[in-house]
Formats: sequence, structure tokens, C-alpha cells
Amino acid sequence: MSLSDIRARIAAAEAAAQRPAGSVQLIAVSKEQPEDRVLPVLEAGHRLFGENRVQEAAGKWPAWRERFGAVDLHLLGPLQSNKARQAMELFQTIHSLDRPKLAQTFARLAQELGQCPQLFVQVNTGAEPQKAGILPEDADRFITVARALDLPVIGVMCIPPVDEDPATHFAQLAEIGARNGLDALSMGMSDDFEVAIAHGATHVRVGSAIFGARR
Ligand SMILES: *Cc1c(COP(=O)(O)O)cnc(C)c1O
Repeated sequence: MSLSDIRARIAAAEAAAQRPAGSVQLIAVSKEQPEDRVLPVLEAGHRLFGENRVQEAAGKWPAWRERFGAVDLHLLGPLQSNKARQAMELFQTIHSLDRPKLAQTFARLAQELGQCPQLFVQVNTGAEPQKAGILPEDADRFITVARALDLPVIGVMCIPPVDEDPATHFAQLAEIGARNGLDALSMGMSDDFEVAIAHGATHVRVGSAIFGARR
């Protein structure tokens, strides 16, 4: 288990970027990981986890929460509108607000449930056709729409294209956040979280570097 290694690397990256210690939150991405890899991280006291799929998370986390107490759960993957209610009940934060219809669904359910998770708007910075996210040129307008619906949008999120220098994408996301007055930046994964921290990431999403490769 290399949770402590990753923590140390985050601390070093914060210091190198002259950012305050503790300004970056580590989301341990436990999707597709077997229980014997996740339990040591829970036992080490970590309480911030990320998952990709509502169904998978709903099958694992209620029991782990019963055993370990409150766990801050973040949804990182694309969300279908028909799973929105379940997601809002399971997750404290959702990183994949990526279209007007989903914003409307969240707004309606928030009224009904009397609560809404914190939201990140996912931006498709590489404009990749197969990838979720709002296009960069549509981001400002979409953020305005989501705010007009009274949704608790706290930041923006991106997943850079695998074959490109992530730094450009992190810089672009930081700019979108800044010009919209959004402080939270969800960016950086196992291979590039230090670069993301240099560009202002507040939430890094690290899976395989903590738990090992997914099968
Ligand atoms: C799987 C996943 C991660 C973690 O990826 P690693 O390369 O294992 O760190 C981060 N963010 C999202 C959106 C993911 O789907």
C-alpha cells in the first residue's frame, strides 16, 4: 500500500508550487479494486474515495461505511439521468456534470430531496468525441445555466487526452475555473498529479498508484 508515498509526493508538489500544505485533497479511486486492497487504505484512516459507477459503488460502500463510519464519496464517471437520484443519495460530490439535461435533473431532485451534492462541471478540454464533458467554448455559458438553477457548482474537472501533454489541458481548465470564479479544480491522476498540482489542482484523483493496476 503506497498511500503514504502518494501523500508525501503531494506534499512535495504543494511545497514546490509554493502552495499551502494540505491545499490538495487526495481522492483515492477505488473503482474495480478488490476489497483486500481497499481495506488497508480505510484502516490507515483515509476517508475520501472516488468511484466511477453508481451501481458498483452502491454495492460496496454501504457495508464499508457501516464498518468504518462516514466516508466522503465522489462520483467521477459519466452519469445517466435515470441514476441521478441514487447518485445524489450516495455521493457527497459529483465531478461529471456535463450537460444541460443532467443539470435540470439535479435541480428538480435537489428540490425533492432537500439536498444536492457539490458539483464539478466536467470540461472536455481535448474536444474528444468519445469523451464526456462540455466543450471548452461552451463552458462559461453552461456554468451560468447551472448556477441559475441554484446548483452548488464548486469547480471544474477534466481528463486530458492520453496522448497529449496534460499540462496544456490543466492550464486551460485552471483558466476556465478562474474566469468563472470557481476555486476547485479536479485534475490529475496517477501519472500526472504532480503536474496538475503545479497548475493549481485542488482535488487529485489517484487510483492505480495507490491500489495497484486494475484488472
Ligand atoms: C479511473 C479514474 C481515475 C484514476 O485513474 P488512475 O490512473 O488509476 O489514477 C481518475 N479519474 C477518473 C475520472 C477515472 O475514471
